[in-house]
Amino acid sequence: MEVATRKFLINEIKNDILKYESKILNALKIDLGKCEFEGVVAEVQYCLSEIDHILKKIDKWIKPKKVFTPLVHWPAKSYVFYEPYGHVLVIAPWNYPFQLCVSPMVGAISAGNKVTLKPSEVTSETEKVITEIFSSEKYRNYIDVVTGGVEETTALLKKKFDYIFYTGSTAVGKIIMEAAAKNLTPVTLELGGKSPAIVLEDADISVTARRIVWGKLMNSGQTCIAPDYVLVAPSVKKSLLENMVVEIKKFYGDNPLTSTDYGQIVNQNHFNRLKDLLPKECYFGGECDEKALKISPTIIESSNDDPLMKDEIFGPILPVLEMESLESGIKLINSKEKPLALYAFTKSGNTQNKIIKGVSFGGGVINDTLIHIANGHLPFGGVGASGLGSYHGENSFYTFSHKKSVIKRSFALDLSLRYPPYLGKLRVIRWLLKYIG
Ligand code: NAD
Repeated sequence: MEVATRKFLINEIKNDILKYESKILNALKIDLGKCEFEGVVAEVQYCLSEIDHILKKIDKWIKPKKVFTPLVHWPAKSYVFYEPYGHVLVIAPWNYPFQLCVSPMVGAISAGNKVTLKPSEVTSETEKVITEIFSSEKYRNYIDVVTGGVEETTALLKKKFDYIFYTGSTAVGKIIMEAAAKNLTPVTLELGGKSPAIVLEDADISVTARRIVWGKLMNSGQTCIAPDYVLVAPSVKKSLLENMVVEIKKFYGDNPLTSTDYGQIVNQNHFNRLKDLLPKECYFGGECDEKALKISPTIIESSNDDPLMKDEIFGPILPVLEMESLESGIKLINSKEKPLALYAFTKSGNTQNKIIKGVSFGGGVINDTLIHIANGHLPFGGVGASGLGSYHGENSFYTFSHKKSVIKRSFALDLSLRYPPYLGKLRVIRWLLKYIG
């Protein structure tokens, strides 16, 4: 796809996001009870910022990159060319149902690919708006939308794509990778997992509490990089718990279930799953409104053998575990699958480095939560069970491009040294390769 076409399409997507903004926000409200602020910040504006970043930098990224050529090949020049894979399948989940369709899609288009989009069937209103926007005649030949659930996705996966970009659960990620393997199709898997927050005794507890509950409760805890559980030093546990309650009340009032800033659980199945996870005794919260599909912000004093510590919670329930020492905290995290995100709250540079080096995780933040996802200059993705590959900004462009290596030689200087017969040439070639190769 010509660069001008890529830019045209990305600009059109931008215009359409602006044109359909109120429809998108309304759909998010119906599907997830997402308030306007979160809809704008985490979905609409998020995509617009990604688009602006791509439009600003695409001419630079697209240029073939000249790299060093070893002397033995001279006279020659070496390049990396960025070639589109061809046809990309983007499969999205329901928690940020607009952003997680559009952000990978514009990345794939920036690299020159055609895209088939498979939005989540769970958030059906958003799925409808996405279908309406991208069924426009101007996108024909470049973007198509396939709707439906497991059956339709299974059928789609039988077709041959040149790249599959999947966001969703680790369990389904394995199904996607298996299907892709049949055609040797490369994949990016953006998955989930249990992302810890570690709080040390030297942290500013009031700010820490505010930032943890903010990251946890956005979208009612249905955020892949939300802090899933907290490990806290014993000396600051009480203060952290108390401060978190203060912050929750400041955010959502005395009855968060009635707050218009507080979203709902996506459907009855997920509501039931989360309700079943609630213990009899909660440190705070635990109230449910079945009709509105809302579960109040809930804090639980927990331990590692708690059922809450088994799988990703993906809801507004926050277990807080006392951590005897930083070493024991790191050991606990490392006993589980590699997390998608990690948050550490400490003023000590040494401790920060110990955590960064001591745990393998997709990405994270020191002294805050979530914000690494909103820096388009950082690659975003998981590791191990939390994902494979990364994207955003420049990294999306490279993810969706095949890196084609080419050496351009001239016809001059055709030394006979490399050609048979080899007799008597080995010593010289060894020397050349060692010292100038
Ligand atoms: P999901 O895996 O159930 O569904 C995602 C997509 O896969 C949907 O489009 C769905 O139609 C399709 N799908 C579902 N089951 C399938 C099957 N058996 N075969 C083929 N396709 C199938 O995921 P979800 O419940 O929508 O999303 C929640 C998970 O996604 C959480 O674990 C969360 O952490 C993760 N997530 C990760 C990121 C990230 O960026 N890493 C972002 C958002 C969500």
